[in-house]
Amino acid sequence: MFTTYHTHSHFCDGSMAPEDYILSAIRKKFPAIGISSHAPVHFETCWTMKPGKLKQYMQTVLGLKEKYRGQIQVYVGLETDFYPGVVDYRGYPGLDYTIGSVHFIYHAAGQRYMALDGTPEEFQETRDVVFHGEARELVEKYYQLLTDMLYQQAPSILGHLDILKKNNSGNRFFNESESWYRKAVEGVLDAITEQQVIVEVNTGGIARGYTSEMYPSDWILACMRERNIPLVLNSDAHHPDKIDAYYLQAVEKLKSLGYTHQRILLDNIWQDVPL
Ligand SMILES: [Zn+2]
Ligand SMILES: [Zn+2]
Repeated sequence: MFTTYHTHSHFCDGSMAPEDYILSAIRKKFPAIGISSHAPVHFETCWTMKPGKLKQYMQTVLGLKEKYRGQIQVYVGLETDFYPGVVDYRGYPGLDYTIGSVHFIYHAAGQRYMALDGTPEEFQETRDVVFHGEARELVEKYYQLLTDMLYQQAPSILGHLDILKKNNSGNRFFNESESWYRKAVEGVLDAITEQQVIVEVNTGGIARGYTSEMYPSDWILACMRERNIPLVLNSDAHHPDKIDAYYLQAVEKLKSLGYTHQRILLDNIWQDVPL
């Protein structure tokens, strides 16, 4: 039973209309799909929803929920960010869930928002400008922001937990097997456990050619399994054809790590279903 609650349409940086994702999901016999544009932020970006579009977004997806009732369950989500002064979208009328992600950091001295998961050049710029060239400090700050978000504004789903590895193939910027890295991740897992948040297994990095592994990495998934942290399989699709990209490989991997279930939103309830 495949679903995805992480999809980007032309309301943000995705390539087609929400309805195209729903039609693709019906063709692929999904029981449910969630639409989840990047929520509006305080500053200019080319990848988040424009603030004036939120009402139209909600109306559009709520309309589609009605239109396709009986064929597929459509849920309305937002992928939200976390930064000083962020709007809390949880509880927004009609919204079914949020995916909490950290994509950038506020650089107070320069009064700029700087990318954490952009291009390798952007990563390097953030490292150099905000952290004086220290990648470890950047990475630790990222995981601290995730932890703060979990305690201050716990989302329904935690988005792409170790997204920083996107630019780190061959340990180009930092070494993911060092103890400080594992400690930083374990701090996030503690917060996830306490706040009872679902972690997404995100195949978008592989589908878009950024990573060879899913987010999170296998060793993190193994730690999550020990802690009984629930997970949901998400594709972070930016095109309707990609809504189940690498799902078969993902399920195989999860089963090899001892997982038997995922937690999905079905009949308006988050429930465990077999993988
Ligand atoms: Zn994201
Ligand atoms: Zn996304």
